[in-house]
Amino acid sequence: MADDCIFCKIIAKDMPSKIVYEDDKVMAIEDINPAAPVHILIIPKKHIPSLDALNEDDLNIMGHIQLVASRLARELKIAENGYRLVNNCKEWGGQTVFHIHYHLLGGRPFAWPPG
Ligand code: 5GP
Ligand code: ZN
Repeated sequence: MADDCIFCKIIAKDMPSKIVYEDDKVMAIEDINPAAPVHILIIPKKHIPSLDALNEDDLNIMGHIQLVASRLARELKIAENGYRLVNNCKEWGGQTVFHIHYHLLGGRPFAWPPG
């Protein structure tokens, strides 16, 4: 738990959110400002500031996030057409909340390159 981290507060349930999945390692919530018909944030319970701060101890959590994303995509019926899993890393990557998370986006097609 990091002071003044909104995702730590959401994980501690000190701040409300729409939880779509939770286990001992991660929480998945609806994004407050969705960029697609399905926009879920998959957030590890451990406070890791960004992908740039990752280390060997975090391998299990990060692998688990991929599996949760894959399962949620099926449950939310976006797996058949396909979807996008995004991490924004630090300022130039577009990161605004400095507690690592992945965006699971689906329900419409996405362009590549992202711009
Ligand atoms: P980033 O830009 O760091 O990759 O993504 C942060 C995401 O968190 C944004 O898509 C933003 O809409 C979402 N977000 C910011 N504050 C809150 C909040 O309090 N609750 C929820 N559910 N999402 C939030
Ligand atoms: Zn945090």
